[in-house]
Amino acid sequence: MKICIIGAGAAGCFCSILLKRKLPEAVVEVFEAGKRPLAKVAITGGGRCNLTNSFRQIKQLKQAYPRGEQLMKRALLHWSQEDTMDWFEGEGVRLVTQEDECVFPVSQDAMQIVRTLLRCMQEEGVILHNSHRINDIKPEQEGYSVSFADENMKARHFDKVVCAMGGLPTMERFSLFRHLSGLTIAKPVPSLFTFCIKDSSLTSLMGCVVESVTASIAGTKMRAEGALLITHWGVSGPAILRLSSYAARYLAEHNYQAQLCINWLNAQGEQEALSQLHGFQQESTRRQVANEYPRQFSAKLWHHLLTRAHIDLQKRWNELSQRDMNRLCAVLTSDVYQIESKGQYKEEFVTCGGIDLACINISTLEARQHPGLYFAGELLDVDGITGGFNLQAAWSMAAVVAKNFG
Ligand SMILES: Cc1cc2nc3c(=O)[nH]c(=O)nc-3n(C[C@H](O)[C@H](O)[C@H](O)COP(=O)(O)OP(=O)(O)OC[C@H]3O[C@@H](n4cnc5c(N)ncnc54)[C@H](O)[C@@H]3O)c2cc1C
Repeated sequence: MKICIIGAGAAGCFCSILLKRKLPEAVVEVFEAGKRPLAKVAITGGGRCNLTNSFRQIKQLKQAYPRGEQLMKRALLHWSQEDTMDWFEGEGVRLVTQEDECVFPVSQDAMQIVRTLLRCMQEEGVILHNSHRINDIKPEQEGYSVSFADENMKARHFDKVVCAMGGLPTMERFSLFRHLSGLTIAKPVPSLFTFCIKDSSLTSLMGCVVESVTASIAGTKMRAEGALLITHWGVSGPAILRLSSYAARYLAEHNYQAQLCINWLNAQGEQEALSQLHGFQQESTRRQVANEYPRQFSAKLWHHLLTRAHIDLQKRWNELSQRDMNRLCAVLTSDVYQIESKGQYKEEFVTCGGIDLACINISTLEARQHPGLYFAGELLDVDGITGGFNLQAAWSMAAVVAKNFG
């Protein structure tokens, strides 16, 4: 059997190894458009590669995979995060699970993951072609013919094709599927980005971190919890990246202009916030509000919040009226800022959208109308939040595809 894998990324390379181990007689060729395989994996996790996680912090899979939850539920049953850890450890990569349950190589070096995958591919006899961009896939009576962007190269015939080209950022990039009827595309838009907020009173606090906030998009049910970091262009941090994932399509449709609502006390209702403030008032009656404040805030941020609540920083806690307390409580639980645009932060970035899941069998990842044509990884309309979920999706989907080859 001749198998073509398009894309030498996480999903494509991993799939090629599993396929060769399952079908040693098969000829498995991987075609990579770039000069180097696994170029993205090499920069994951800030060069440390957060290759999976222990998932326990996620109560519902939908929270981890805003797109593709059902597919991932099945894929994880076949190839779980433990399977990923066992596989890499079995190949000699020692792993460490951080306190936040994210899993990294002990070496803290993404290149160790790259080298391990490339070594396994070589050992199994996978044929890797770099600088080979595929620009057309045509169904034939039996199998598929694939053509290359380089016109000097002849089209090749394969019995089966695995598409693992990663997140394609524009609709034009999907033109290589033009001869495959019945494949629809969910418009690609970015996910996992920061928010630009042009409010110098906020951005002057750059570097401030609040460990636990709830961030939401005003007027919607989209909300995310976690740490928030104030930057020189707006806001970032896990809560914001997570919210950008939940709201990826909504924000794209609204041209990245919306109102960000921050609950600085993390989801406590106004009543709870008010009683906390009354507690401060009783304990610190004669102390200045500017100097006595909840521990999660820095002095600079607290002063900013007091100013937003129109409270004189010189006042003492016992001088605050009920109206002052109500205003402060409103700011602490629903502080609203205008999002002006998407940030340019590129620490982690994935594509929301891609091959529509309705076109494939989500248990086998085979195209419904094209037997022998499979999909894996970010190319599908599947994406996760930060924390190793996206690479885990690539490993799991690659394993599902390999399982279904006979
Ligand atoms: C900066 C950054 C950091 C990240 N950090 C993490 C992290 O720590 N943990 C995590 O879980 N996720 C992380 N991600 C997301 C993760 O890297 C991706 O979700 C994952 O790599 C997707 O795997 P894939 O195989 O589907 O696609 P990719 O790894 O993107 O591979 C696709 C490959 O296909 C090739 N290709 C595309 N079109 C063609 C074509 N027509 N012909 C031939 N080849 C083609 C591309 O050149 C590419 O090499 C990060 C992403 C970025 C950008």
